[in-house]
Amino acid sequence: MKWKKWPFVLVGIILLIGIAGSVLVLQRPGTNLVEIVQDGEVLYQFDLLQAEDQIIKVEYSGRVNTIEIKDHQIHMLEAECPDKTCVNAGWLNSAAPIVCLPNHLVIRFTNNSNIVDGVVG
Ligand SMILES: [Zn+2]
Repeated sequence: MKWKKWPFVLVGIILLIGIAGSVLVLQRPGTNLVEIVQDGEVLYQFDLLQAEDQIIKVEYSGRVNTIEIKDHQIHMLEAECPDKTCVNAGWLNSAAPIVCLPNHLVIRFTNNSNIVDGVVG
C-alpha cells in the first residue's frame, strides 16, 4: 500500500469508529443524565435515553442559547454569543462539557439525579 493512501484509510477508520461509537454509545461517561447549568444553577436535567426531541431556549442578559435534544443526543443548536464555541462543539458525547462562556452556560453529563418520576423542570 502506498503511503499516500494512509490519510484516506485513517479518515475512513475514524468515521467508522465515530458511527459505531454513536450507535453503541461507547463514548459516554457511564451515565445518560445530562444537565443544563447556568451560573452554577441547574436549570434542566434530562435522561437522554427517555428525553423526547425538543428545543430548549435559555436566556442570559438578553442573549438566547437554543439547545436541541434529538435522537437522544443534545447539542447547542444556536447561540447569541460572540465566539460560537458552544455551537461548534457539536453533540455532547463525552465527559467534556459543552460550554458557552459568554452566556455562563454549561451542558454536561452528571451522576446527580434530581429527576422525580421522569419529569424535569
Ligand atoms: Zn456560546
